[in-house]
Amino acid sequence: MTENRRITIMGAGLVGSLLSLYLAKKGYQIDVYERRNDLRQNYVEFGRSINLALSDRGWKALEGVGIADEIRKVAIPMYGRMMHDLQGQLSYQPYGKENQAIYSVSRGGLNVTLMDLVDQNPNIQLHFNQQCLHVDLAANELEMLNTATQEHYTIKTPRLFGADGAYSMVRYALQKTERYEYSQTYLEYGYKELRIAPDPDGEWALEKNALHIWPRGSYMMIALPNLDGSFTCTLFFPYEGDVSFNSLQTETDIQDFFGKIFPDALPLMPDLVADFFENPTGSLVTIKCFPWSLQDKVVLLGDAAHAIVPFYGQGMNAGFEDCTVLNQLMDEHGDNWQTIFRTFQEVRKPNTDAMAELAIQNFIEMRDLVADPRFLLRKKIESK
Ligand code: FAD
Repeated sequence: MTENRRITIMGAGLVGSLLSLYLAKKGYQIDVYERRNDLRQNYVEFGRSINLALSDRGWKALEGVGIADEIRKVAIPMYGRMMHDLQGQLSYQPYGKENQAIYSVSRGGLNVTLMDLVDQNPNIQLHFNQQCLHVDLAANELEMLNTATQEHYTIKTPRLFGADGAYSMVRYALQKTERYEYSQTYLEYGYKELRIAPDPDGEWALEKNALHIWPRGSYMMIALPNLDGSFTCTLFFPYEGDVSFNSLQTETDIQDFFGKIFPDALPLMPDLVADFFENPTGSLVTIKCFPWSLQDKVVLLGDAAHAIVPFYGQGMNAGFEDCTVLNQLMDEHGDNWQTIFRTFQEVRKPNTDAMAELAIQNFIEMRDLVADPRFLLRKKIESK
């Protein structure tokens, strides 16, 4: 194997794992480094835990490496939004015509499936517990830490794909190059994951094939179905203010608030207080940067290049689409990496910038407008 056929991917998240399958299909020899341990070692059950909405651009990318059918077996179609008002009354808006849907899939399950496929591929080596500490762009060298043994070492690599997420170390090296464009913007909202339990028969306590929303003007809760009959809820809520994470400090605060604001959900959430105190509050960031690449040496993709807030359900889908587009460019330009990387960033940047804006606008629509009767009427007319 010549040095030119070797590729290093930083990050074995959703995008890094899928990318490795695409590159291996083209005959490259891939090393994937991941700072976390192998999540399959502690993984209990496919279908539990946090879920994501998978849509067309994501499916297309999974089809490109022949794994869409496998994922489809464990994906739950959501054909529309189910709104829950303050009295627990329901109203429904279909997402499209003729059973068009987005799909709820388990993040862990998807990652495990991807990693199993990666493991079966002789062209890919996965290295867990290996954290990138520094990228030396001039020397094509990575300073690494084995987090299990605390051993430091360096790797030389002619080609580096940074799929190491929103706080990418690969991007950090690019940020220090001349005239680099970079911005990160946080919403004044955080999110917390909570859980609706299955009903006593182990079935879904709410309509299974819908994305549930409790729109409450300046904040909201959503819920997506899991295979085990539970729903993963996400509360998007201000950090500060009269009604905020800061204002809910005691068990009574939480029970009273949910009883008043989410009255139909509260009885379905037996672990609410423990979940509320134990689950971390996540922040919501938009990251934009440019360029995404340097010569033929380095390229960013996924959240490392374009982290967006989750209200459009498109972060992972956009990262998967990056893989589809890179693959098309490899078909067109062979080994001409500089052209591939340059075209990739030129084609993708306007699209991912647009998605970042749509995602922020959709927060306003989901938390507020979906409960507005005029909006409901417009949607009704559109869906005719
Ligand atoms: P990540 O998933 O962050 O993976 C990066 C990997 O790199 C990680 O495994 C990390 O451990 C590793 N890594 C990081 N730094 C280093 C280092 N220095 N050395 C070695 N390894 C490193 N998207 C959707 O499409 N649909 C949704 O419904 C949706 N819902 C969301 C809900 C929430 C609350 C949030 C926060 C996000 C949501 N997203 C959704 C977005 C989605 O989670 C991300 O876009 C997606 O995970 C990005 O994948 P990635 O592989 O680029 O990055």
